[in-house]
Formats: sequence, structure tokens, C-alpha cells
Amino acid sequence: MDIESMVTGKTRVIGIIGNPIEHSISPQLHNTLSRQLGLNIIYVPFKVEGSDLGCAVKGLKCLNVLGFNVTIPYKESIISYLDEITEEAELMGSVNTVKNIEGKLFGFNTDARGFVQSFTKEAKATFKDKTVAIIGAGGTARALAVKIALEESRKIYIINRTLQKAEEIASRINDKIGNVALAVNLDSKESTLALSEADILVNTTPLGMYPDTERTPLNKDFRFSKNQIVFDVIYNPRKTLFLARAEECGCTIVNGFGMLISQGIQAYEIWTDTKIPSTLSEQVQDLLLKYI
Ligand code: NAP
Repeated sequence: MDIESMVTGKTRVIGIIGNPIEHSISPQLHNTLSRQLGLNIIYVPFKVEGSDLGCAVKGLKCLNVLGFNVTIPYKESIISYLDEITEEAELMGSVNTVKNIEGKLFGFNTDARGFVQSFTKEAKATFKDKTVAIIGAGGTARALAVKIALEESRKIYIINRTLQKAEEIASRINDKIGNVALAVNLDSKESTLALSEADILVNTTPLGMYPDTERTPLNKDFRFSKNQIVFDVIYNPRKTLFLARAEECGCTIVNGFGMLISQGIQAYEIWTDTKIPSTLSEQVQDLLLKYI
């Protein structure tokens, strides 16, 4: 359908705010969903400078958008501009989805829910009673680590180049959820032991992401064991060097593409109060592959 027949006076708007924003494939994801569902909604990107975050949020509210996504670097700083956030998003200290209900802004985190859904489906496993090693301690690691703790894992190692950031996440989990998290320095003997002990390894660093595809967060001598499940939040390339090495050792590997689709679908369900059928999710996932 042409844009002039699609966008009418009744069209509702959903946005995404971040900086940079040009790389995002969320517009393709959400506009595909609206087209497939026949909903009169358009999803548009907004590049917002840090000093403008407050007025951008106020503007979106005054323009009566249905909602918006929040991406790098605003998933934490957005919280102070919202009226309410879910308990889970509060624990994570991170919001990626905002719904506007009659001028009140409600915050959610669908990144972590998307991660769990994609992991469960693709690895055919759960986190319950598992030892998990998370590499990285940035915003994504914090949301995933909290969610993994809520999923009743046995132990969570947070392994990072900057130990202090890993310690901050570990204390957050130990204080608020249960005493299961330990911080480890990436460049240490302890990290090799933790990585070897883990049932599940999750890379949350950008190392290996296009165009720097020769990079990997682990030392090249590290040997995965074949019963480990290895997840990389990166989806471009589809198989990072980290995942390729794990696959060579016989591990089950999962990339971040399913997580990306799943977090987006869950956000769309929140904005539109609909349940997206799994056949449509799979169709959209196939259609989106051409954008990465
Ligand atoms: P972030 O907050 O900037 O955190 C990045 C982490 O990577 C930090 O812990 C940092 O360590 C570590 N790191 C960066 N460069 C490193 C290096 N050279 N050596 C060792 N460690 C390094 O980023 P983020 O928001 O968490 O995002 C991380 C990744 O997740 C990105 O690639 C993003 O695209 C991806 N992501 C994917 C999805 C999806 O749906 N699949 C969703 C969200 C994010 P220090 O603490 O020492 O700096």
C-alpha cells in the first residue's frame, strides 16, 4: 500500500528515541506488524540529543503518541520522566518501552522478557537451577541478570572488564532478589573457572558486532564444553566468532535476533492491547531477516 493511503488523519504514532538511531530495525519490525494486522499505526525514529531528553518526552506526550521505544543511551535516564514503571523494570533500572495512557507514561522492560522467550524457545531450556555466566556489565547485562535471577537460576557470574560495574549488578541482585550473584574480573583466572563451570554463557558485550566481526569477548584459548548453551545478544552477524567457536565445540548456540523480534512483539502487544499470534511472529521474523 502507498504511504498516502496508509497515513491518514486517524493514524496513531509510535516512536523510538535514542542516539544513534539510524541502525535500528525497529521501524521495519513495527510497521510490518501494523501492516499485517491492518492497524492504522505508524512507527517512526526520533534521534534525540541527551540535553533534549526531557523536552522530547514532553513533546511525545503532548502529541498524544500511543507510546515509544527507548534505546541507547536513554534506557536508564528515561525513568525519571515516567509516571509509573513495572516492578521488574524498577529492579532492572531500565525501561525500553513506554505506553501513553491518557497523558500518563508507563514504563516496561521487554528486552529481558524477549531474551527469556527467545532463549526458552531456541535453546529448549530454562534458567531454573542453572549456573549462568554473563559477560559484560552494561545496561543489557543488568536487565538480563535481574531477569535470570527472577527465573530462579542457581548462580550468576557477572564477568566484566570493569569489575566495579559487575559488583554493582551483583549487589543489586543479592540485595533485592536472592544471594546468587558474583562479580568476576574478565581478565582473571577466576573468569575462566566461572565460564567453565557455567551451564549457560551469555555475551552482552558488543565485541564481534558488525563491522568488527573478528573480535570476541573471550580469550582464543578458552574451550567451551559441548553441553553448554551459548547465547550472544548480537544479531549482526548472525553467527559471531564467539558463537562460531562455541558451535565448533558442540554447544547449542543462539543469537540475538529472536530476542530482538520478541522484545518488539511484546512492546507492540503492550501498546495495542493485542496478542500477536505465534504464526505472525514467525512470519515477521522471516520478513525481517533481509534487514540484517
Ligand atoms: P553498554 O551498556 O555500553 O555495555 C557494554 C558492555 O560491554 C560493558 O560491560 C563493557 O565493559 C563491555 N565492553 C565493551 N567493549 C569492551 C571491550 N573492548 N572489552 C571488554 N569488554 C567490553 O551496552 P549495552 O546497552 O548493554 O549493549 C550491549 C550489546 O547488546 C550491544 O551490542 C547491543 O546491540 C546489544 N543488544 C541487543 C539486543 C537484542 O535485542 N538482541 C537488545 C539490547 C542490546 P566495561 O563496563 O568495562 O566498559
